[in-house]
Amino acid sequence: MQFSKLFIPTLKESPADAEVISHKLMVRAGMIRQLASGIYSILPLGLRVLRKVEQIIREEMNQIDGQEVFLPSIQPAELWIESKRWDFYGKELLRIKDRHGREFCYGPTHEEVITDIVRKEVRSYRQLPILLYQIQTKFRDEVRPRFGIMRGREFMMKDAYSFHADEKDTQHTYSQMAEAYGNIFKRCGLDFKQVQADSGTIGGSFSHEFAVLADSGEDEIGFCDSCGYASNLELAGSKPPSPSTPPATLQELKEVETPGKKSVEDIAGFLNLPARQIVKTILLENENGLVAGLVRGDHEINTIKMRNLIGCEWLQAAGEEAIAKHPGLHCGYVGPVGLDLPVYADNEISALHDFVTGANKPSAHLTGVQVKRDLKIKQFGDLRTVKANDPCPHCEGGRYQVKRGIEVGHIFILGTKYSSAMKAVYLDQQGKENAMVMGCYGIGVGRTAAAAIEQNHDDRGIVWPRNLAPFQVIVIPVNYSDEESKAACDTIYDRLRELGIETLLDDRSDRLGPKLKDADLIGIPLQIIVGPKNLAVGQVEIKIRKTNESDLRPYPRVIEDIPNILKDL
Ligand code: ATP
Ligand code: MG
Repeated sequence: MQFSKLFIPTLKESPADAEVISHKLMVRAGMIRQLASGIYSILPLGLRVLRKVEQIIREEMNQIDGQEVFLPSIQPAELWIESKRWDFYGKELLRIKDRHGREFCYGPTHEEVITDIVRKEVRSYRQLPILLYQIQTKFRDEVRPRFGIMRGREFMMKDAYSFHADEKDTQHTYSQMAEAYGNIFKRCGLDFKQVQADSGTIGGSFSHEFAVLADSGEDEIGFCDSCGYASNLELAGSKPPSPSTPPATLQELKEVETPGKKSVEDIAGFLNLPARQIVKTILLENENGLVAGLVRGDHEINTIKMRNLIGCEWLQAAGEEAIAKHPGLHCGYVGPVGLDLPVYADNEISALHDFVTGANKPSAHLTGVQVKRDLKIKQFGDLRTVKANDPCPHCEGGRYQVKRGIEVGHIFILGTKYSSAMKAVYLDQQGKENAMVMGCYGIGVGRTAAAAIEQNHDDRGIVWPRNLAPFQVIVIPVNYSDEESKAACDTIYDRLRELGIETLLDDRSDRLGPKLKDADLIGIPLQIIVGPKNLAVGQVEIKIRKTNESDLRPYPRVIEDIPNILKDL
């Protein structure tokens, strides 16, 4: 492709609202433009990269016998009502009405549609398993669209769904899928981790995320430095406490005046105790009302672990309205002693003695609190978020490291959640009807490309991993109107294209400086710079984008070396 014909509107400045480097560089490199909040047009250079990601995904999906489909983006409300997600999905679901007043949504995901197709067509165990995938536009009305196409409202996703006769077969496909995901992200040149994850609103029993390690990531990943266990921090298990010996005499319960002392730091300072001796009582709200969670003052409550422990649909910080319904609750002074709510406590609480809690009275706390004597705990469990350096629960001596990650893929075993709700059944060998067991598997196409930039850039621009680069080589004449230079550039360009190498020829009449800047910005792995002085002695300059190393090579012999040079990039 000739640069002059390509629509690559590069910019010197980043957009004011861009927070992360991938967003800045994608706009500056002329890959994307924003149309509305979280809604982006993908321009030619951007599309070339997305198509690369898609192609890698397609090849790996086909490799494990995935069959590509293309499903409608507009979905009828009835299906979502059947799966019980019409209400549950909330504001993220963009709801629309047609001219007859019928309700639809713009698909944020396709479990309902695919389950509807399969339940209508599949009758027998002989037709299972089935693995279908698509690469298609989704819409989610995200609360905070940001970071360009990394968290858009409209975005490209590869979503795959599998249907099985039993759990064991589902697990087989799940492992194949995990391996395929590993191959995809390796081929995309990414440094990633497969981590244990929560199944969230998609629902289901088992899931892993693929996280690209980057400081700009919205997720936190906890992984053991010794055994390799890795998990999203929202789920990472903590090691249960070793049983502690109680002191010879336990303190009595005592009420102390603590006016204005609401935070753990305040109380700890006031009573001259370490934060771990103060127990925090956190009020949360779920579909059944208020609940309380207890963690040590030096720990943070983890609502996802707590939701999983309770087994409720959702759990969030208690709102003012819910709290107001319980007159005995005084913000900053809530405590578990005599509290008339279901109380869940982190395992670490069971190892405490003589601790402090709120007194359920304004301006007062209780000291000398004991678990067995004073508290009614509905259930103990692992309810805290692990921190760096915490001991790993899966090995002896391992410690957690915590890094930020970008979730680029997510795989789930769904079990029969959708097939039961939507009656997707098959007849087994005995002629008995069973719900199909399902798995679902997503990859954000645009997010993967953006994540690649987060990991591969420098102060001059993008440094594409070779398999995602929109072009492999860019030929840059110092002066394209110089006849000899033009002839050499054209020869290189034509020959590389014959060799099947995607090549860009910068045929613009600009000076060399801006052309080099653009080449660096758009991140083409290999630059061939052709100037009259070098040509006069039969040489051209080869520059590697990643290392900025350049050397002079004999022209035209160098052309035949290019495939080899590219291999090593
Ligand atoms: P997140 O936790 O980041 O909101 P999610 O858990 O909602 O993501 P899934 O439902 O698992 O996402 O979707 C599958 C994949 O689609 C994700 O792994 C991610 O790569 C991509 N994805 C999800 N939401 C967005 C978005 N708003 N913009 C771009 N890609 C997205
Ligand atoms: Mg997810």
